[in-house]
Amino acid sequence: MNVPLTINSIMDFAERVHGDTEIVSVTIDNPKHRYTFRDAFARTRQLANALAAAGVQGGDRVATLAWNDYRHFELYYAISCSGAVCHTINPRLFPEQVDYIANHAEDKLIFTDPAFLPLLEGLEDKLTTVEKYIVLTDATNMPATSLSNAIDYETFIMDQPDTFTWPEFDENTASALCYTSGTTGNPKGVLYSHRSTLLHAYGAALPDTMNMSMHDVILPIVPMFHVNAWNIIYGAAMIGCKLVFPGPKMGDGAALQALIEDEQVTMSAGVPTVWLALLAYLRDTGKSIDSLNRVVVGGAACPQSIIDEFEEKHNVYAHQGWGMTETGPLGTYNSLKPGMENLPLEGRRAIQVKQGRPVFGVDIRIVNDDGEVQPWDGESTGEIRIRGNWVCSGYYKLEGADSHDADGYFGTGDVACLDSDAYLKITDRTKDVIKSGGEWISSIELENVAVGHPDIAEAAVIGVAHPTWTERPLLIVIAEEGKIPDKSDVLSFLEGKVAKWWIPEDVVFVDEIPHTATGKISKKDLRVTFSDYTFPE
Ligand code: AMP
Repeated sequence: MNVPLTINSIMDFAERVHGDTEIVSVTIDNPKHRYTFRDAFARTRQLANALAAAGVQGGDRVATLAWNDYRHFELYYAISCSGAVCHTINPRLFPEQVDYIANHAEDKLIFTDPAFLPLLEGLEDKLTTVEKYIVLTDATNMPATSLSNAIDYETFIMDQPDTFTWPEFDENTASALCYTSGTTGNPKGVLYSHRSTLLHAYGAALPDTMNMSMHDVILPIVPMFHVNAWNIIYGAAMIGCKLVFPGPKMGDGAALQALIEDEQVTMSAGVPTVWLALLAYLRDTGKSIDSLNRVVVGGAACPQSIIDEFEEKHNVYAHQGWGMTETGPLGTYNSLKPGMENLPLEGRRAIQVKQGRPVFGVDIRIVNDDGEVQPWDGESTGEIRIRGNWVCSGYYKLEGADSHDADGYFGTGDVACLDSDAYLKITDRTKDVIKSGGEWISSIELENVAVGHPDIAEAAVIGVAHPTWTERPLLIVIAEEGKIPDKSDVLSFLEGKVAKWWIPEDVVFVDEIPHTATGKISKKDLRVTFSDYTFPE
């Protein structure tokens, strides 16, 4: 039978088969909200009616600016299953980027957490397509706002019936939209389809991938605005495991530990920075996370210290995954092949720090600078190229901007090698960006602002390893002849011109900056020169 692969089918199944499974959330107005899939989907239908009443039609973009919680869960299903596109906006972007992507996506409605009201109030005049703002709270907790057409979520859905006839549509219909600022220029939109989402959910749940089961209690810390929380939300509904949402507490070690213990969380997923925060809290307090048996670490390279500490102190297995907004995100996942668990610790760790093995559904190859496909010998490096069921075919409304090669593989800008056991190891990146705490910083934009300083002749920015943020920007400058600028003056010059968290961690003055044959700053050489550099305490 040819049954369409839609998110609607996940929702219908979850309600019928796993209706009594719990969803627990921290929200701004409730420290512990608790209900079931059955309750969630009844409210999802109320929300679908409210969306229809607000004029949302198939294909319309409806935006969310929200933390991980049950209302965001309802939005995921109500928007996509209505045939509209759930556009998750990253609230950590700076205002100009939020304004750019909301206009580029032509968002019709924006659902926002109360915390982001000041951001939207400052942008309202520029958001020309937005007809209504819905604040994710109830009437009692609704803050005063200058937004002209704002309503609280509970009032928005309150009078709507909890029955709804979902439309039928093709499985290739767009379901969600996520912009990535992982390259230069304006953020680019990546559309996911119902089909790609459902296939990804199958692939991610497999035993040697995330091994998701109804016996699990899963805490997705990775934000729902970042590649649909690595799509865990869909897999969880498919297999029927309890979900625990941390709301705004995703970087808070104390809150995460309490959620894990109280709700008996078995599995969680997030970027290295959140694990560093949790591990530091556990170290400082001596508290435990006994129910947790594994975590997924992705979005940035996982330091071995995280793997060591989780396993040795807490009996938690840290699995590294690699992927991108453009790749759905899952590309590779690190599980040991049979027999590898018996290797001496050092040998096992050498494998665990790799980014993992390709997941069925994607096809990965390594291509060198001359366009030659490299052998899987653990040494030959090149760009990771990828194609598959959940890899993007291009960017939203940006014809010509995609980076697929003649064989149809997407060029990732990550440099890696594959070994004979199919483990991928990232060694470098060609894209000129820095990933700090899971979020992108553009080196080029920082350089452009820095050279505006009257005493700076040339500036280069590279990412350097950092114990908390994985990577932080280091600004390398050549001073104008006869000028001796000082560090604090250079850094304060950047303030207000770039987001606060973009400000480089340190400035070093040099006489020369290396260039490539085409005259570009050679980041590769700079990274080698500063490979031993450590930031001041
Ligand atoms: P994003 O699209 O924001 O999810 O960022 C994807 C990028 O993050 C990749 O292209 C890599 O550069 C980086 N990344 C993701 N996972 C890993 C990992 N496990 N190790 C190293 N880099 C990673």
